[in-house]
Amino acid sequence: MPEKIYFRSDLIELISHYKSLRKSFAEKARVIQKENCANGIYIRGLIEVSSFCRCNCLYCGIRKDNTDTERYRLSDEEILSRCEYGYTKGFRTFVLQGGEDLVFSDIRVAEIITHIKSRFPDCAVTLSLGERDEKTYRLWKDSGADRYLLRHEARDPKLFSLLHPSEQKLETRLHALETLKSLGYQTGSGFMVGAPYQTIEKLADDILYLQNLKPEMIGIGPFIPHNKTPFASYQNDFEKRTDENSPNKNSSEEITSCTLTSSLDRAELTCFLISLLRIIFPHALIPATTALNTLSQTGRKDGILSGANVIMPNLSPLETRAKYDLYEGKSNHTLETAEELERLENEMNKIGYKILFNERGDFKNKY
Ligand code: SAH
Repeated sequence: MPEKIYFRSDLIELISHYKSLRKSFAEKARVIQKENCANGIYIRGLIEVSSFCRCNCLYCGIRKDNTDTERYRLSDEEILSRCEYGYTKGFRTFVLQGGEDLVFSDIRVAEIITHIKSRFPDCAVTLSLGERDEKTYRLWKDSGADRYLLRHEARDPKLFSLLHPSEQKLETRLHALETLKSLGYQTGSGFMVGAPYQTIEKLADDILYLQNLKPEMIGIGPFIPHNKTPFASYQNDFEKRTDENSPNKNSSEEITSCTLTSSLDRAELTCFLISLLRIIFPHALIPATTALNTLSQTGRKDGILSGANVIMPNLSPLETRAKYDLYEGKSNHTLETAEELERLENEMNKIGYKILFNERGDFKNKY
């Protein structure tokens, strides 16, 4: 069970006051992280296998309708060689993430997993390849996959439908998450913070959903507009709504609009929610995400100091990193790359944490 269960009204109250609560929540979250992980940080090598995608999520830079982006997909050999490199650097989890690209067929992915697991039997394989059916998820699990990341994105049906085209259904997404759990994957879910049309109530619904799902991993990161998507200028809309067009100025819906106009606010609220999630889920694997580090120069460090216990350096080939273009300015240089691992290690040591090289970092407790 989660350590602490919150009701919807509590969550709304807490999130509304995130600015005044964030320091004390971060302190509590750090104590819990220390008790459970002794200030250890797990690393996962992120390999972005394809930027082709059949989906059209309105917020995402690699959506199908963005014709102004160069697409790529890695070969099996390239994927294996990035694992090989990562292994020498002390990575023991490889995350294969990509757009929903059916060229990565059921069989092909199964073969890639089998290869990785036979070459590196002490490593975990995490998949993040979107929605597939139960048969496929089962095949990949039987081939040796350990974990699956699939953010639910928005638990509120109205918000989900504002963020996705009508062919993409919330029920399908939630069903996929149930399936993954039932097949025995360590399952990760999550959402963006400050997404278009999101309000405090909707964030509360996302956390309530996570309390029910009990995921082993939780990924949250700030929404960052991408200029080739329908939400390219979303930040401006936010400001307009608060200035003139806000229908109900005193509701907490309006608080969200007010408080999330700047990228700093989105980064701060993300950190607050990381702390809150750490308090609810003391053992969960919670990354300080790339999006958080893209939005704020100190994002990764702030995420860790808010209770996160995972970082996911980019292990993709240098040539393709910029093409996995989910949002504007996606951090694909400096410390997000595995090459800079030593600097990353120093950065963590300076704030009293240590990177757990050569460890798989599985979720240790049973729900
Ligand atoms: N196809 C995979 C991987 C999606 S990309 C899947 O469906 O799970 C991984 C995550 O990036 C998404 O789940 C989404 O929450 C996040 N993301 C996409 N566009 C973003 C944006 N503009 N700002 C911030 N995060 C974004």
